Amino acid sequence: MSDTSRLAIHGGQPVRTQLLPYGHQHIDDDDIDAVVEVLRSDWITTGPRVGAFEEAFAERVGARHAVSFSSGTAALHGAAFAAGLKPGDEAITTPLTFCADANCVRYMGADVVFADIRADNLNVDIGEVERHVSSKTRAVIAVDFAGNPADLDGLRGLAARHGLVVIEDACHAFGATYRGRPVGGISDMSVFSFHPVKHITTGEGGMVTTNDDELARSLRMLRNHGIDSDPRHRAEVGQFFYEMVELGYNYRLTDIACALGLSQLRHAAGDLARRQDIARAYQSRLAHLPLEFCAEAPDATPAWHIFPIRLAGNAAVRRDAVFAALRAENIGVNVHYIPVYRHPYYRKLLGDLEDKFPVTEAAYATMLTIPLFPTMTDTDVDDVVTAVDRVVRYYEHAPE
Ligand SMILES: *Cc1c(COP(=O)(O)O)cnc(C)c1O
Repeated sequence: MSDTSRLAIHGGQPVRTQLLPYGHQHIDDDDIDAVVEVLRSDWITTGPRVGAFEEAFAERVGARHAVSFSSGTAALHGAAFAAGLKPGDEAITTPLTFCADANCVRYMGADVVFADIRADNLNVDIGEVERHVSSKTRAVIAVDFAGNPADLDGLRGLAARHGLVVIEDACHAFGATYRGRPVGGISDMSVFSFHPVKHITTGEGGMVTTNDDELARSLRMLRNHGIDSDPRHRAEVGQFFYEMVELGYNYRLTDIACALGLSQLRHAAGDLARRQDIARAYQSRLAHLPLEFCAEAPDATPAWHIFPIRLAGNAAVRRDAVFAALRAENIGVNVHYIPVYRHPYYRKLLGDLEDKFPVTEAAYATMLTIPLFPTMTDTDVDDVVTAVDRVVRYYEHAPE
């Protein structure tokens, strides 16, 4: 007996029988074949597919160099190293992001300074960044939140005025464009992640793109123990000698992963178009509800890694209830993000900062992320729309 008069959380029939996750990888048979082929080959790491993936990726985003890393977080660490961050320096970033953007600053022994976000698209507010610039500031780490490019020209201007390096965390934005150019070739360094929920996946993996030869050299060195030459090149020329000139790490991405990444690039454009279609469907089919969406900049095309919504109206004070009710309907909602300064590590380091970030706090209190990934079916999209409509309308009118 189907009972749609009650929410699932009150014992009614859920909209779906199986949980729809908020994100999921798209792996096809050609992706699998590409990985099997590399497993049968001579090189399973630091072989020909690493360079091939890097070249193809650099071309895709219009950058001179792409340097692969074992994760997006390792790539951020590489970017923080190449930017020259050291103890005593400061880097400014947004608090509404994954903690890796702040952690990469700490890895270098430098200090994290947060700047509040804009209410319209939840990207870092350039005016707030500028307000926090000091004589110690060396870098700005801006996130293209949800896949909407940050104010990249504004950031570049600010960086030029104060002599800063711009690290763009483009982990949400592979395929986005800004003023007609793809994200990845615009900032000093752009960082991507290939975690399974991202636009393309290598299992774990990441990339830094840059047009600067010196930054690229630095990135390659850090990801390979701080050694200034490539093991495959040494094998080819028959030399043993190498020098470790900086304290680096093993952050290399394998040929197995790069074969998958290369293969994923084949269907990346189709996957992106599907993400954009689903986002447009949400924008129009949920428009009647008291919700706010992330605004799209008029001169940018967002890549929509996630689709965050903010509750407005009466339901705005009931985010946790709305979250639980949507989960009960088997809609895999999430929250992006818990503000970074709220994590115990940063609270211990920086104290209680909630009062200093009113826009971030207001967003955090009312936001949830609804499912968005390229292999979602039209029925999946219908289920999300049905469940969000049912639950938000209920809490809009529910007694406290
Ligand atoms: C995914 C992500 C990262 C980290 O990437 P990993 O590959 O998971 O290490 C960093 N920043 C943002 C904004 C992300 O979404």
